[in-house]
Amino acid sequence: MIIAIDGHSACGKSTLAKDLAKELGITHIDSGAMYRAVTLYFRKRNIFPNDLEGIRKNLPGLEISIVPGETCTVMLNGDVVTESIRASDINDWVSDYAKIPEIRKKLVELQRSMAKRGSVVMDGRDIGSVVFPNATIKFFLTADIRTRTNRRLAELRAKGIPAAYEAVKANLIRRDQIDSNREDSPLIQCEDAIVIDNSKLDVADQQDVAL
Ligand code: C5P
Repeated sequence: MIIAIDGHSACGKSTLAKDLAKELGITHIDSGAMYRAVTLYFRKRNIFPNDLEGIRKNLPGLEISIVPGETCTVMLNGDVVTESIRASDINDWVSDYAKIPEIRKKLVELQRSMAKRGSVVMDGRDIGSVVFPNATIKFFLTADIRTRTNRRLAELRAKGIPAAYEAVKANLIRRDQIDSNREDSPLIQCEDAIVIDNSKLDVADQQDVAL
């Protein structure tokens, strides 16, 4: 079984994915975390998104794995990066790396190979449209920008990362704009996806609607 959850940034995709995975006893894979890990990898090497040659040269040395569990542990070349990929520098750059076809190709292959090991619930931007077009069930999450900004602010503050409302909002809008308009695998709402508007649902309601 493959459950695909797509939607804009900070709509609650990962929360829903985590809850469904727990409820159904299957693996949760946060594909956004994989794009974040790629971003950390290139930022550490000072390779910018416009340096396609540098990206091509360094891509074979990139190893990402997700260790499923209560929290999705993200490993980058042997190091745990679960927390560091949530930093605001990564938020600022991730969509610029995520639009590069070579990067997407590598991660999509990895995502498909992960799903061969058993049932998964995967959340992201192109899961129902590109990674698993034949997914068992597809969800598309939406929420208004105020709800999403407050959600991301609360997450950041809970982790002790300082953040201001306007800056967080601007980052979400910018990422959505890039993610929805890129040439390779833009964020779209699949015709066969079940749409959940999270603006007025709390976590329990959201899970009820999905189940
Ligand atoms: O889900 P999250 O907000 O952590 O994703 C970070 C970024 O990774 C997104 O803004 C998007 O640019 C990219 N992404 C993507 N395709 C996915 C998952 C995430 O392009 N399947």
